[in-house]
Amino acid sequence: MPVVNTLPEARRELALASRIAVNEGVLDTFGHISMRHPDNPKRYFLSRSSAPDMVTADSLIEYDLDSQAVRPHDHAEYSERVIHGEIYKARQDVMAICHHHSPAFMPLLATATDYVPVYHLGAVVAANPPWWDQHDEFGDTIMLVREPAEGASLARALGQHQMVMMRRHGITIVGSSVRDCTYRAVQSCRNADYLVRALSIGKAASLSPGETELAGQITGKTTGLTRSWDYWAMQIARAGGLSTSATGTNRPKRHPAAKKAAAKRGKKRGKKRRR
Ligand SMILES: [Zn+2]
Repeated sequence: MPVVNTLPEARRELALASRIAVNEGVLDTFGHISMRHPDNPKRYFLSRSSAPDMVTADSLIEYDLDSQAVRPHDHAEYSERVIHGEIYKARQDVMAICHHHSPAFMPLLATATDYVPVYHLGAVVAANPPWWDQHDEFGDTIMLVREPAEGASLARALGQHQMVMMRRHGITIVGSSVRDCTYRAVQSCRNADYLVRALSIGKAASLSPGETELAGQITGKTTGLTRSWDYWAMQIARAGGLSTSATGTNRPKRHPAAKKAAAKRGKKRGKKRRR
């Protein structure tokens, strides 16, 4: 797997992960992916408040673990950033976090149905990940995790697991790298989708505990992660997404025909003005 060597490369990879997560149905208008600062474990990067499909390397804000921006800025921030800060505080091994409200999971979250892997890639998170219900500790809230105490409570529920199921809200999933976290987020969403569909037909057969453990090692032991990342990144590139520079802009590449038409329009306008 190619190694990310510099901070600009790491920032660009996080922006790309955000685009991939949108393209693969994990994120939509809401939700976010963060990464721990590669050189400073007491800091992390998360985009300013923006649709995940518009995140660039330039839109990342550097936070301390209390989720306070390290440098002053005048951008709006994600209100649920304490999820990231409190988990980085509690789990030294976690290098990336994704919080999402994917439609694939919502039926499970609404019915308190446990997540079980129904095919091998679903084992990227173990069977029966823990649950967290904000109401248990905090009563009626606006259902967003905005207070440090709420983030810390969620981090406690996550414990040493890979993923925590947030009742009637969403999912928080962690990884040992941005790519690892993205891979687990995408594959677990696929599995959740299959699980819900299977349950609508009848009883869903899950992998055995032994199969889950063995298949769960896929990420670390095979080329599946690299192959998936390359494929997903290619889809973004084909769509004219993230630029190849570390400080890429959001502007999609124009189709050559559209470029030609715009040039023609420009010429006509010029002629009119001259008249
Ligand atoms: Zn949320």
